[in-house]
Amino acid sequence: MTSSKETDALKRAIGRSQLAHALLFTGARDSGQKEAALWLAQTLFCREGARGEACGACIDCRQALKGSHADLFILAPEKDAQGIKVEEVRSLITRAGFKPLRAPCKVFIIEEADRMNEIAQNALLKTLEEPPGHAYFVLIASALEKILVTIRSRVQTHPFLPRAVETALDEEEAVLNRELLNYAEGFSTTPPDLTKLSRDRIAVMLDTLIEFYRGAFLMKAGAEDLTDSARRSQWRKAARRFRSSELERRIELLGEFRENLSGTIHTKLALSVLWDRLNENNQ
Ligand SMILES: [Zn+2]
Repeated sequence: MTSSKETDALKRAIGRSQLAHALLFTGARDSGQKEAALWLAQTLFCREGARGEACGACIDCRQALKGSHADLFILAPEKDAQGIKVEEVRSLITRAGFKPLRAPCKVFIIEEADRMNEIAQNALLKTLEEPPGHAYFVLIASALEKILVTIRSRVQTHPFLPRAVETALDEEEAVLNRELLNYAEGFSTTPPDLTKLSRDRIAVMLDTLIEFYRGAFLMKAGAEDLTDSARRSQWRKAARRFRSSELERRIELLGEFRENLSGTIHTKLALSVLWDRLNENNQ
């Protein structure tokens, strides 16, 4: 049975009848969003469990968990595709118009929703604004900044915390990581020296930084009390300090750098350029 801070928050929302029909699960890739979305489908489909609980044993539960339930539809970008196509979104919307076949409702999961282009997102917008009463939509996105503001304002956002990034750091890395976050918050003007780390480990460090800015970005998007996390106060400070557009710029800059990292020859030089560009808007 899935249990985490995130599913607890969803359970509470179900318990208080405050579960929105349009949901956005954000956070680093593979932080448990898909599992939680399937858990949610089970919970909404199951007639055996108590409210907010899935029995896990009935046919609805088992099929939902496998992703094979007739009232569950999962949309993900096709392999090697640029992203989710607008036709795929339109076909999902058409399906959403039909009544459920077996379960009390239908659940639509869109994986990598941040890989829908603007046209596809706009096609989805109206449905998210006025979702059919029998349909729930779960958008999973790691790059929240790539989701249109109009969509963001229509969905209930549930942030997912990355799994065990910190515990995976050794002692020296943990020190560097703290220095890095201090730098990211603007408390220190000296970036930590990451050049002694391998590229893989630098990538892990940058992930924590991207996550940090994303957390702050979420706070600004109003996800304030949807999670309790040790990082929340850190995120809140950064949310106060930076405009959304500046957070977006930083997330994009870091993401781009991280993507190109393996092809970077002069890591030291590249990092120093990165730090300059990161803080170029700081006075
Ligand atoms: Zn069940």
